[in-house]
Amino acid sequence: MTKTREERLFEAAVDKWGVPSQVALLLEELAELQAAVARLVFRGRGTLQAVALELADVQIMTGQLGVILKRLGMEDRELQGIRALRLDHLEGLLRGNGKGTHD
Ligand SMILES: [Mg+2]
Repeated sequence: MTKTREERLFEAAVDKWGVPSQVALLLEELAELQAAVARLVFRGRGTLQAVALELADVQIMTGQLGVILKRLGMEDRELQGIRALRLDHLEGLLRGNGKGTHD
């Protein structure tokens, strides 16, 4: 199957900088997104663009986390299956037949 541009970039980043570095960067980007959302929502400062920038950073790093999980032995089918299950869970909550929690 042909890889997408994103898949190629995420794999190249993990190859270039390694798993420990990219996991550390993921945690850093998550914190930056948290800070940007908090600044906008709770302090009335910051901008939508700042949140969107941090969101993009987190999406890029979570994409690399998917590459890392696969390199640790997880099949892409399993990774996609878990995502599908979580989307089904959300859909159930929205339809009112879930447990009422988001975890
Ligand atoms: Mg960032």
